[in-house]
Amino acid sequence: MENNKELRHWLDAFGLNHPLVIAGPCSAETEEQLLKIAHQLKNTDTSVLRAGIWKPRTRPGNFEGVGALGLKWLQKAKEETGLLTTTEVANANHVALALKHDVDILWIGARTTVSPFIVQEIADAVKGTDKIVLVKNPVNPDLALWLGAVERFYTAGITKLGVIHRGFSTYEKTRYRNNPEWQIPIDLQNAFPDLPLILDPSHIAGRRDRIFDLCQTALDLNYDGLMVETHYDPDNAWSDADQQITPKALEQMTVDLKIRKVEGDEKEFNNQLNTMRTQIDLIDDQIMDMLGKRMKIVDTIGALKKKNNVAILQVKRWNEVLGRMILEGEENRLSEEFVLKIYKAIHQESINHQKKVIND
Ligand code: PEP
Ligand code: MN
Repeated sequence: MENNKELRHWLDAFGLNHPLVIAGPCSAETEEQLLKIAHQLKNTDTSVLRAGIWKPRTRPGNFEGVGALGLKWLQKAKEETGLLTTTEVANANHVALALKHDVDILWIGARTTVSPFIVQEIADAVKGTDKIVLVKNPVNPDLALWLGAVERFYTAGITKLGVIHRGFSTYEKTRYRNNPEWQIPIDLQNAFPDLPLILDPSHIAGRRDRIFDLCQTALDLNYDGLMVETHYDPDNAWSDADQQITPKALEQMTVDLKIRKVEGDEKEFNNQLNTMRTQIDLIDDQIMDMLGKRMKIVDTIGALKKKNNVAILQVKRWNEVLGRMILEGEENRLSEEFVLKIYKAIHQESINHQKKVIND
């Protein structure tokens, strides 16, 4: 697959002057629930109603979706509100049922994207239709696997394509349910600038109070749309209760989010500048995070030194660290002077930390 303008024709056809908004509950629960949410989203920035019909749960025993019955509710919601509809399909049977119920957009879930066999089965089932297919990133941070899934649809003749960034699983607990790893969608965007890129802040955040900031970062990075889990009673949702927001909150969010839209000659320049500044901000966040992690280990070593009655400063070890970092710096085109300055500062902070641990 090569980048081409055709990839975004379906998105341009919406004729929006703001990013595409896809909203709706994590899961369709009852007909009443889905219709109520759909009506609350009608006449807002939302163009597409989402609802999970079959829910892929990491562990059994959680709500696994209402099944094909819910497709009728989606269809009814479309008739009553004019919103387009989208749901997750995870096998050829789901595709056949979704097609039968006139679902407009099919999305491929993160747990499906990881499996080329299933993706191929779904691509074969969608072949010959003019459906829009959105491919969520795989649960593991693997750009090739993500792109590979998109390519299977492209090769099957599906050209109305897009990707959804929903973050990546980590064993280590982070501040997010799924770590964003922004560099991965950024790399994808650089390779395929015309492939619509949509953020799913809900599954990245895992909690509603972090959704806004994630959306703003995505807009600063020129994402094309947002898919936000929305429920009139989030706390009592049957799945993903912590991360859903009300249609009202979503509406307010779309007002508060800043779309950096500049017209004319400066547009390209500004877009590029904003994108790169956001990239730098994300790297700065990582630097702080790494320094924090480094200090935590330093504290633990401090406690160990205290227990074993060892002096804080160990010159031999320090010279080794410095020597290694100067070489690393050289490889990264950083001057020796700069590396020395940074590492002296880090070393001083480490000593301060250990002094504190030892004196406590
Ligand atoms: C969902 O969108 O409700 C969902 C299950 O998402 P993901 O595949 O990203 O986990
Ligand atoms: Mn969900």
